[in-house]
Amino acid sequence: MILSNNQLTIHEAHRLLKSRQLSSVELTKACLERIHQVEPKVHALVTITDELALRQAQKADELLAGGDTNPLTGIPLVIKDNMCTKGVRTTCSSRMLENFVPPYDAAVVEKLNGCGVVVVGKANMDEFAMGSSTENSALFITHNPWDLSRVPGGSSGGSAVGVAAGEAIYAIGSDTGGSIRQPAGFCSVTGLKPTYGRVSRYGLVAFASSLDQIGPLTQDATDCALVLNAIAGYDTRDSTSVPEPTPDYTQCLNTDLNGFHIGVPKEYFVKGMQDEVEIAIKAAISQLEEMGATVDWEVSLPHTPYALAVYYIIAPSEASANLARYDGVKYGFSYQDADSMWEAMEKTRQYGFGAEVKRRIMLGTYALSAGYYDAWYLKAQKVRTLIRQEFDQAFEKFDALITPTSPTVPFKIGEKIDDPLQMYLSDVCTLPINIAGVPAISIPAGFADGLPIGMQIIGKPFSEETLLKVAYAYQQATEWHKRKPNI
Ligand code: GLN
Repeated sequence: MILSNNQLTIHEAHRLLKSRQLSSVELTKACLERIHQVEPKVHALVTITDELALRQAQKADELLAGGDTNPLTGIPLVIKDNMCTKGVRTTCSSRMLENFVPPYDAAVVEKLNGCGVVVVGKANMDEFAMGSSTENSALFITHNPWDLSRVPGGSSGGSAVGVAAGEAIYAIGSDTGGSIRQPAGFCSVTGLKPTYGRVSRYGLVAFASSLDQIGPLTQDATDCALVLNAIAGYDTRDSTSVPEPTPDYTQCLNTDLNGFHIGVPKEYFVKGMQDEVEIAIKAAISQLEEMGATVDWEVSLPHTPYALAVYYIIAPSEASANLARYDGVKYGFSYQDADSMWEAMEKTRQYGFGAEVKRRIMLGTYALSAGYYDAWYLKAQKVRTLIRQEFDQAFEKFDALITPTSPTVPFKIGEKIDDPLQMYLSDVCTLPINIAGVPAISIPAGFADGLPIGMQIIGKPFSEETLLKVAYAYQQATEWHKRKPNI
């Protein structure tokens, strides 16, 4: 009941759990009930882990009774289905891994379990995280709770819907080119892509290793800080994780924006952007200006238009290498009726991968092949350096850059699926951030005809505190993040 239209945040639920006004079992049952009620409409979850959840909730109640004060103890979440969960199927929404049950937990899952969390389900996604609408899932399509005929964004569409539709209190997603922020924007939740290296990717099914990052999808900035506290930090099992100290991210949450410098890069207000999106984001930035921030409305990041091309060379190249492991021999789907080893491998990949995954493997293999490597991959890496330097320079002047998260509100299911280029364009505002490896957060900043609009706040490496502070300040002054879809 409590969850239907008046959904609890992590910090609200924690208060009730701590004061024993609510038990984790009650909260978990309410989420499971809500899941069974809305799942036939939204289809956000690949696996519902009822039994595991109730077991974890009972354990959490014991921990709470024993005086446990961890803010995540006993609070239900969903996890994107590309993060390994020991004993629980981890499909990556692919036929290739449809029956894969990992023998170990991903580092983030391990950390969350250490906090006494409750996992209510594994969330649907675009196959191998390749896509912007969750329509590339090989299992089923996820629907946007704000309008069921529209996409929830992707690839972490199931995670964003899980939070927006009240199936869980928060979610974990992954972001290679926008997959946390874009669905957060499309579903009106708060989604953070941390700095590259901030969160361990051990146990995350790899897509593009120089871009992938794990992060939270929550109902507000406070919750986002609480989840980041739990999952951030160095891990010897991920050689790209950074041995930087992890602050307490809740300490920075205040509304004082005096002396704060915001830049608005004009290249992000791209041609073809929906008017309502531009108007809403500019209004939101003006609001921050009124709250004390100094805004430079005419910043230029001239290499921005190349980010899309760079991404679609680097990401498929890395994907083609990462996905070579799915050969039908080691683990995952294996074609059984072949006459030769080569045929078995070929048919395994033919039937195991969907169309978009095959497209990426072909693009990547081409870009890395002898004779083309210098012209494509190496060139893309050089432009990547220029894009990164441009961000470095901007952050000498500004504390944060602000842009729309996406050029449009959520589009119709089926609208872009036959036109990969149109689909790729929906990530123009988010891709450059992964290319530069910097952190960015998407927060609710308005609606157009009842459809959500997301605002993206970008910061320098390891400035998650700054992003959370701006998000928090904005959310103290506005109510967008409190609106819930009516389903
Ligand atoms: N939409 C982008 C892609 O298709 C980004 C996906 C992601 O961040 N995982 O590659």
